[in-house]
Amino acid sequence: MSKKILILPGDYIGTEIMAEAVKVLELLKAEGEQIEWSFGHLGGAAYDAEGHPYPPSTQKAAREADAILMGAVGGPKYDSLPRAVRPEQGILGIRKDLGLFANLRPALAYEELAAASSFKPEVIAGLDLLILRELTGDIYFGQPRGRRQNAEGAEEGYDTMHYSRPEVERIAHVAFQAAQKRNKRLCSVDKENVLETSRLWREVVIEVGKQYPDVALSHMYVDNAAMQLVKNPKQFDVIVTGNIFGDILSDEASMLAGSIGMLPSASLDVNNKGLYEPIHGSAPDIAGQGKANPLATILSVGMMFRYTFNRADLADRIDVAVKRVLREGKRTGDIAQPGEKIIGTQEMGDAVVAALKK
Ligand code: NAD
Repeated sequence: MSKKILILPGDYIGTEIMAEAVKVLELLKAEGEQIEWSFGHLGGAAYDAEGHPYPPSTQKAAREADAILMGAVGGPKYDSLPRAVRPEQGILGIRKDLGLFANLRPALAYEELAAASSFKPEVIAGLDLLILRELTGDIYFGQPRGRRQNAEGAEEGYDTMHYSRPEVERIAHVAFQAAQKRNKRLCSVDKENVLETSRLWREVVIEVGKQYPDVALSHMYVDNAAMQLVKNPKQFDVIVTGNIFGDILSDEASMLAGSIGMLPSASLDVNNKGLYEPIHGSAPDIAGQGKANPLATILSVGMMFRYTFNRADLADRIDVAVKRVLREGKRTGDIAQPGEKIIGTQEMGDAVVAALKK
């Protein structure tokens, strides 16, 4: 049976980069892969078209799809909207609705782009790490939250950090299984010296780890992890952490890879149904100019084949095609060095399709 993909281009460069990812899908379908896709609205585009950043039509299509490919949402046009209908509510809504609790972000330092990184080549050369961030719990969703007056009469804002045992168990299982498929090393990052939430987190990760004796488990405080990531990132294989720590560490790790335009991500539910998206935003500053790098979105297509469709062969093919275009010297502006020829979004997409055919 055909696999159903829902495509949500989103806002600003979202439509431009997604058009290139679709070229890859078209090639694979023409080769006989059983895939079909449809388009929907999310974020600002959904607000414009249907009055809500995650409208019922998208909800229905997302629930029916086997996997979802997303561009990026948000931008200045929507900055003054009330919080409840801001584009990011579309992303939070779809993650919550589909139970996408595990966010996988690989950080790979391409040899060809070593010069574009702000790190010394020897620190990042050969880097291949995976950050696993819990996505539906923690202080971003904890209740109570709000504004109030404190005992001294001053206004204060407050949020609540919490994790339940089942929430930690399920992300820990994903993390140990991911480590089993890689170099069998897992580092759990927390703030166990200060936070009750982290004490439970660490206890549960250790318990779950007993079921995975082949994986070497270590623990690190988040402040140290932030430092170690820039000092010696190659010490890590898989990192697992909660929502807020993972939000920050995964952005930090993205800089190791050279450009934000190169990094894909996956958010999975308990059955490995996933939402796949580049980690960058909608880049309003370059939208409509054909300058956006589509590689993170194309690599997200690769992750979709790897994690949801269990087609490591196609995922590897896409990864190899991207490496090949980089080796051929193809560069969008974000990854070009001074003096290098710069190509546009469409040319980069075409180059990947041509490399896939070789
Ligand atoms: P951004 O990631 O959109 O852009 C940061 C910088 O990186 C910009 O200079 C941009 O031009 C560049 N950049 C990003 N993607 C690129 C690409 N593919 N190719 C070349 N250059 C690229 O972050 P921002 O400017 O802070 O946010 C812009 C909007 O995107 C905001 O509304 C924000 O809320 C939203 N956003 C959305 C997501 C998402 O949809 N998942 C994630 C982050 C930010």
